[in-house]
Amino acid sequence: MIPVRDDLRALKGYHSPQVEVDVRLNTNESPFSPPEGFRDALASEMSCVDWNRYPDRSASALRSDIASLHGCDAEQVFVANGSNEVLQTVLLAYAGPGRTVVTFEPTYQLHAQIARVTGAAVVEGERGEDFTLNPAEVDRVLERAQPHVVFLTSPNNPTGLVEPRERVEQLLASASGLVVVDEAYAQFADWSALDMVEESVPLVVTRTFSKTWSMAGARLGYLVGPAWLVAELDKVVLPYHLDVAKQLAGRVALRYADDMNERVALLVSERERMSNALGVLPVDVFESGANFILFRPNVTDGKSVWRGLVDRSVLIRDCSSWPRLNNCLRVTVGTPDENDRFLIALAETLLHSGPAGSTDTVKV
Ligand code: PMP
Repeated sequence: MIPVRDDLRALKGYHSPQVEVDVRLNTNESPFSPPEGFRDALASEMSCVDWNRYPDRSASALRSDIASLHGCDAEQVFVANGSNEVLQTVLLAYAGPGRTVVTFEPTYQLHAQIARVTGAAVVEGERGEDFTLNPAEVDRVLERAQPHVVFLTSPNNPTGLVEPRERVEQLLASASGLVVVDEAYAQFADWSALDMVEESVPLVVTRTFSKTWSMAGARLGYLVGPAWLVAELDKVVLPYHLDVAKQLAGRVALRYADDMNERVALLVSERERMSNALGVLPVDVFESGANFILFRPNVTDGKSVWRGLVDRSVLIRDCSSWPRLNNCLRVTVGTPDENDRFLIALAETLLHSGPAGSTDTVKV
């Protein structure tokens, strides 16, 4: 065997275990297929593709469609294969050996993971017991680390917490480097940092087609940031990284913005219904502004609840052994039927493992 880089030896891969079940509520995708008409429209666009030619290297049509959606310039938009590749490109350009990246834990694991893969040092700030971020902790960590890149995820994954605007303002005022606000779930929340993006501000906001746009299968994400920064990313990313089919799929999806907004509204109302139903079960529920909810069973351990749900053919994310997430589980908001299946299965599981009578009045 050939030894891998010394700094990668201890690194564990990022996994999201899949199990064959009827109801899959573990990876925060949209539960809905793309809108009626999307497939035909895409098939008709695809039939005109010059497959023997490389795609438009700068994805200019897609970039300008995204720019129109957000009212910014096409030069301020960078697109890649999922927001994970957007984050990777940012970190390749602005992190790397000898540089420092700050995260506030618990948060999306790939921020620290990708930063380490680029060779950067990661400094982890800590959230409180309720997963909120104390401004004093932000100042302490920024002062100590003097980071080249600092991440804030809003709504945060896996906690669901929406960061207040003041936290982004604080980071912009105090951080020495680039501020990345990961808004993979922002359509489900009540505010976005997109309007804070300006040429003179070292801020990028990342978004994805994987959740709202029902396109996790296509792998498409983007960021909005200053044009000078996007120009640096264009140098770092591989030539022709975004294939022609994906560029078309993104453009066609954007024609269905109204359908997407309706779906978001439905998922938000389902999220509230689920939070309320969880509130009468013996679990602690964390407030969410995303399309998932974090909760912690308080009559039994998270792992056995997760197993009880799998036994009832419902898969959610088991975060119970993740650092700082002791006993927590995360459920994605699905269709109303899927959510009912989950709530009934959870109530049954808790009834069998907790004190008798604790869940027998549950209504879903
Ligand atoms: N950021 C956050 C906070 C996420 O939860 C995810 C998906 N799990 C991503 C980015 C990556 O999304 P994608 O690569 O599918 O665009």
